[in-house]
Amino acid sequence: MALIIERARIADFFGTFHESGYVLIDGGRIEVVGPDPAPAAPGAQRIDAGGRLLTPGLVNAHAHLYSSLARGMPLPGFAPKGFRQILEQLWWRVDRALDLDGVYHSALVGALQQLKAGVTAFFDHHASPTAIAGSLSQIRRAVAEVGLRADLCYEVTDRGGPAERDAGIAENVRFAQEEAGGGRFAAHMGLHASFTLSDETLAKVVSAAEPQKLPFHLHLAEGKEDPVDALQKYGMRTAERLDQFGIFTPGTLLAHGIQLAQAELDLLAGRSASVIHNPRSNMNNAVGVAQVAAMLARGINVGIGTDGFGCDMVGELLTARLLAHHTSGDPTVLGDPALLSLIRHNYALAEASFGVPMGRLAAGCAADLVVWNYEPPTPLVPENLLAHLLFASVSEGLRPRVVIVAGEVRFADGKVQGVDERAALARAREVAQKLWARL
Ligand SMILES: [Zn+2]
Repeated sequence: MALIIERARIADFFGTFHESGYVLIDGGRIEVVGPDPAPAAPGAQRIDAGGRLLTPGLVNAHAHLYSSLARGMPLPGFAPKGFRQILEQLWWRVDRALDLDGVYHSALVGALQQLKAGVTAFFDHHASPTAIAGSLSQIRRAVAEVGLRADLCYEVTDRGGPAERDAGIAENVRFAQEEAGGGRFAAHMGLHASFTLSDETLAKVVSAAEPQKLPFHLHLAEGKEDPVDALQKYGMRTAERLDQFGIFTPGTLLAHGIQLAQAELDLLAGRSASVIHNPRSNMNNAVGVAQVAAMLARGINVGIGTDGFGCDMVGELLTARLLAHHTSGDPTVLGDPALLSLIRHNYALAEASFGVPMGRLAAGCAADLVVWNYEPPTPLVPENLLAHLLFASVSEGLRPRVVIVAGEVRFADGKVQGVDERAALARAREVAQKLWARL
């Protein structure tokens, strides 16, 4: 059934703008965008946006839904000295405690959070070493219930030995072959990070990804461990080592990219892979600051994600700017053109994964839309959309009123559609309690 959203303040990140307009959707795609009044379109469902802002749904380019059940988890004795100990004392305990039921419920909670933050597509990086086989199917099931688009992968690592490593590779290949596709689900080959991957494992992963030409999704030079390990064991820096395996292919996602030397930035500038900036997670883990402006100046592809630290993409963009200002002493760094390039690159990544034009409010593009609970207090014009979003997020608490994914209404008037959210959260609390007891 056709759907019309009318009386909306329409803006995307490419210059489309209507002070008062409508979007006509059919078959999961946008058919018409234009100024009000909307056509009669007999039989179409109609939503009155009441003058609120309508934008494309947002894309989160690096997420960890498995972390969803760790909120408020007691961690007696947690006192990490450095990034590796954050993994050892927290995340490598949480992921090992997950069974398939825990994977499903963490994904359901995580997907609900993405939806309610206006994220309509995301790239997830999953680990559950005691429940590897079938884990990506559990995430897929949860994400399908919520109705989002997701690109999934399982984190291959040597930290659990060869059997877990091989199971991880097999889960990536199985999911990509059997369950990705259809415009809603896509697959990457997941890897943890250079410092937990031997040469033998990297070679295995690359050959396993080859038949389906899967791009890779991994952490690059997040903590100091990565360059130290690469230099000690292989006599070269992290990006130089990984590049020898040919993994910086188009669509490959390199989360963080903090501990990189100038020569590594130069190397990445000659490759197609994307660095994904996650500023709030980086600040929380005290791992340093990615040189985003320097990367953009070199022509490196840069996108933005949350790394499991919430799913507020507008807040993440604002933090990227604040962090860059704060650390550089330059209040002009990461201005609107830079932040817009991150947003647009996220759409390009999603478009490549899901096979649908994304991010533009134009005929033929994916009908992934958000009506924000926002009426601007000052004139909103094509040139200041970003400023409105950034400042709304820190003043009014920018939240969606309606979220539409592939033409289907998934959130409206404070309610998730098609999922009993209250029941899901109640069950998640029970599962979380059991998970915490297993740590
Ligand atoms: Zn991550």
